[in-house]
Amino acid sequence: MTERIVVVGAGIAGLAAAIYGRLAGYDVEVFEKNAVPGGECTGWDRRGHHIDNCIHWLTGSKSGNALNDVWLTTGALGDDTEFVPGDKFFTARIDGREVTLWHDLDRTERELSALSPADAGEAKRLMQAVRQARCCEIPAEKPLDMMGVLDYLKMGLRMKDMPKVMKVYGDVSLGELAERFKDPLLRMLVGAYMPADYAAYAFIVSYATMASGNGRVPRGGSRALALRMSAKLEEVGGRIHLSSPVKRIRQHEGRVAGVILQDGTEVASDFVVYAADMSLLFGGLVERELMPEEWARAYKDRSSYPVMSGLQVAFSIPEESVPSGTTLFACAPFRVGPREASCLTSHCYDYEPTWAPEGRAVVQVNLTQSDADWEWWKSLGKADYRTSKERAAAIFADRLVSAFPKAADGLELLDVWTPVTYERFCGAYRGSYMGFKATPKTKSPSCKGVVEGLPGLYLAGQWMTNPGGLPIAVTSGKFAIQRIQRSK
Ligand SMILES: Cc1cc2nc3c(=O)[nH]c(=O)nc-3n(C[C@H](O)[C@H](O)[C@H](O)COP(=O)(O)OP(=O)(O)OC[C@H]3O[C@@H](n4cnc5c(N)ncnc54)[C@H](O)[C@@H]3O)c2cc1C
Repeated sequence: MTERIVVVGAGIAGLAAAIYGRLAGYDVEVFEKNAVPGGECTGWDRRGHHIDNCIHWLTGSKSGNALNDVWLTTGALGDDTEFVPGDKFFTARIDGREVTLWHDLDRTERELSALSPADAGEAKRLMQAVRQARCCEIPAEKPLDMMGVLDYLKMGLRMKDMPKVMKVYGDVSLGELAERFKDPLLRMLVGAYMPADYAAYAFIVSYATMASGNGRVPRGGSRALALRMSAKLEEVGGRIHLSSPVKRIRQHEGRVAGVILQDGTEVASDFVVYAADMSLLFGGLVERELMPEEWARAYKDRSSYPVMSGLQVAFSIPEESVPSGTTLFACAPFRVGPREASCLTSHCYDYEPTWAPEGRAVVQVNLTQSDADWEWWKSLGKADYRTSKERAAAIFADRLVSAFPKAADGLELLDVWTPVTYERFCGAYRGSYMGFKATPKTKSPSCKGVVEGLPGLYLAGQWMTNPGGLPIAVTSGKFAIQRIQRSK
């Protein structure tokens, strides 16, 4: 009889696990608590506009690498997928002065050095690291624990320049890296796009991914990508049940026996792939004591294992009033809860003309959020929460218009969302965008995708390997199925 896999969660990890499970010949059913698949990789509509929640870069978008094969196999990308044209990572600007991280690294190096000759040496060193980091790849053929000596040797050869990057920047935070620059604009460029405690190498790898053409944005954005995966799952014969939260993992005689849904329905299976937030799994779906030691330590030690989220506001603006793509702009200082800031990030989606009425575009303004911010949002009562969101939206609108005055024409607030929104929508731990933050100080917990003491349960998702994100989610889904196959 065909063996049965139940997948919990239809985010990118769950969808990938389900598709690979079907392709390996299992009977597969997915249970998702939301009414739409995609998890954090999603988007929604507001008054004739589309708001995209996720993809700023899709690692593995370039053909000819193992991760790209995974995106193709899962239907996330197809031979006919178009990509948004782009030539930059982002631009930073203070009082009309601006500087850009171009995909063309020589150009970036030239422009950084010309802007601030005193920083030329530091800029050169940084760009050299970005060039070297272009070799960085995420294992996508099989999980590390299933790799043999030869696999490691091949991977080491392909990534031979990465140790050079780690030697120079491995123990440096973005805040520390920014301090090495003298010009305030360059300090902001390097130090303010991601949180200051973020590992410098993670920023370098992100930039390198885009510069090498392996981090493009597929047209249609995040929701369209998730829906393509969901359609692929149905095409290969998998079943997906939306609005069907799982309450408990069923156990029988010391092994997993299926799941129990919130409405009490029991679903039997030979294996369960759990692809939702890990704090929820060990917070009630199975016994807390089963949590691997490393994770238990990380959840307990909040200062050493921070998470990252965002406070975001979407506006409708006139076309061409805000630069296309991402801009980090300095603004008058402000405070939201515990957070003081003097710069914001705008991302203008004018490159997707169907996402706004004619002559208009959607811009999203973002302030990164930390554990402390989540705690503050979480502490607010319903009315204070709403008022605080309105206040934040008013501040963001004011700062946006000060930086880009033409945006004022018919400026319309579309939506505001916070770390608590991510927690509510996906169950994301403290609203986290990814896994635990990559910092130079702590080695983030990684997991072999199984739970000791509970055979039959396999894990997937952004928490599996630091720092998370879409590539970790999609490969972890594939790896869960490889592990199930190996178990027999
Ligand atoms: C604003 C933003 C921008 C981002 N930008 C990028 C980017 O540019 N590039 C990149 O690589 N990554 C990016 N990420 C990260 C990326 O979106 C996530 O890492 C990834 O989508 C996580 O996928 P996942 O499947 O592991 O988890 P999730 O997306 O959290 O999916 C888990 C699913 O499980 C469901 N679920 C939870 N509990 C239950 C239950 N009890 N029963 C049934 N279902 C349940 C949830 O509803 C959810 O659908 C971004 C994230 C955000 C928020």
